[in-house]
Amino acid sequence: MRTVRTVAELRRRLAPERRGGQRIGLVPTMGHFHEGHLSLMRRAREDTDVVVVSLFVNPTQFRDGEDLASYPRDERRDASLADREGVDLLFVPSAEQVYPAGFDTVVRVGGLTDVLCGDAGRRGHRHFDGVATVVTKLLNIVGPDVAYFGQKDAQQALVIRRLARDLDIPVGVEVCPTVRDPDGLALSSRNSYLTGGERERALALSRALRAADEAVEKGELDARPVLAAARAELDRAGVEPEYLELRSAEDLSPVERVNGSTLLAVAAHVGRARLIDNTVLVSHAGATAPTDHPRGGPG
Ligand code: AMP
Repeated sequence: MRTVRTVAELRRRLAPERRGGQRIGLVPTMGHFHEGHLSLMRRAREDTDVVVVSLFVNPTQFRDGEDLASYPRDERRDASLADREGVDLLFVPSAEQVYPAGFDTVVRVGGLTDVLCGDAGRRGHRHFDGVATVVTKLLNIVGPDVAYFGQKDAQQALVIRRLARDLDIPVGVEVCPTVRDPDGLALSSRNSYLTGGERERALALSRALRAADEAVEKGELDARPVLAAARAELDRAGVEPEYLELRSAEDLSPVERVNGSTLLAVAAHVGRARLIDNTVLVSHAGATAPTDHPRGGPG
């Protein structure tokens, strides 16, 4: 595996592969790799000929006062993990590479970005402008045939699908299942902020999703009792959600009843970690729809 730090070098290295008809896969990340990241790399390794992983802690998607400065960074460890997954190129650009002097361009995906992580608790900061702009740049820099994202960030995945469609970026967007610890906690770089006791409380998020899942399995389809089942798990652990909402898994419009593809999404602060998680609820009628059931019992 080779680490490259400039756009020019990355393009130079990919040019012959592209000319030779090799398929290029891209996994965009902010580093501090865990099994969630590695699952995307494995998937890219299986599907494509040349695997590029980008590692860039993108300042524009952090709100003032958020954890940009303290976000966990360990490039050496990340490089060794990516190497073990058979990654070909690790792209680690500086902020100046990504945002040259005078950079003042924004990619904004409307509609999908005013809700959930685009709104609640973020007080006007346009988080997804930062995400959409940097991902557009990465797609243009690398020119992948396929780019891989995690369902853990369900809203982000929808935003990226939409921007690729709207801007005619010729890339396949693959969304891979959320990887969890055996007790149900969705893996996240920010889990490293949790103390032992906080990690216990953080389990309330996946328990809440599971409780909603079980309510739906029992035939409950109205939003209110399904949300109440989830909310009870958060309350039990003393976790106050930033949001806990049912929305269409296709366009994030609000829903009053669970149908074949209904996203239940939750965000909450536990200690200094802001955690998010989600599941796609499946009613009996749509029991074969793809889903991502959190593992781990309700306790
Ligand atoms: P991040 O480094 O947190 O920006 O994440 C990079 C990519 O990994 C994004 O597409 C995330 O959705 C994905 N990802 C993060 N956590 C997980 C997880 N637990 N399971 C699957 N994918 C994940």
